[in-house]
Amino acid sequence: MTKPPGKVLPLVAALLCGAVLAQAATPSDHSVTSAAAPVSPATGHGLLGTTVTSKRGEPSSTKQPRQPAQPAKPPVAKPPADDWNLAAHGKVLYLTFDDGPQHEWTPKVLQLLRKHKAHATFFVLGIQVAQYPELIAAERAAGHTIGNHTWDHKTLTLLPDAKVRQEIATGVKSKCLRPPTGATNAKIEAIAASYHQRQVLWDVDTKDWEKPGAASIEHAIMAGARPGAIILVHDGGGNRSQTVAALDRALTKLTKLGYTYRALPC
Ligand SMILES: [Zn+2]
Repeated sequence: MTKPPGKVLPLVAALLCGAVLAQAATPSDHSVTSAAAPVSPATGHGLLGTTVTSKRGEPSSTKQPRQPAQPAKPPVAKPPADDWNLAAHGKVLYLTFDDGPQHEWTPKVLQLLRKHKAHATFFVLGIQVAQYPELIAAERAAGHTIGNHTWDHKTLTLLPDAKVRQEIATGVKSKCLRPPTGATNAKIEAIAASYHQRQVLWDVDTKDWEKPGAASIEHAIMAGARPGAIILVHDGGGNRSQTVAALDRALTKLTKLGYTYRALPC
């Protein structure tokens, strides 16, 4: 799979890829789809499409999502003031951890990041945050940033608009949204923008959730590392021992190569 240096999907590519992913998505757990990477005519960047749907418990009936706030205005097109020119900072990598927080693996990831003096971004699920509020507090306290990964990981492209809004609005408050499984389209990007959330996908898919072995995950990270690259790994959704082992080895090597690790401006 190609790993072009795209960061944030332009509308055209989002539409293309969203269509591919929507076709490929299935309601089964741990469904996997590797989509070809459509290339944006505007940037030449493509999207790595990977569909991941992990079991993470039934949504609690006692934790009803609050009503999503209706945006007062149509989606905003104004670019955020934050610096999203990620490739402009030299040998900097952006590690992103999806599907947490999770009681066993998130603390181990935090420990690993501390060891390597790395900052990262956690795209969290609202339902997990409700269960482990202390972990998201620990992430913030350690200087990491938080992105919205929706309430409970539904495939947004398969939902009616009102449900898409509810999934986004009941997720964590953030300036960034990562749609579950990367399934998106122009409409979802626009709905996210109406909540002032920028859609953030990734450049390097380690496929760590498939548990392909630590060596495979490490290889994906090393092969995809380049200035400004966003790397997708997971701290939730299952046993993440391979992810932690792979990152420990990869970060040791990458640090020797001069890389540092920053949080996204989410
Ligand atoms: Zn996810």
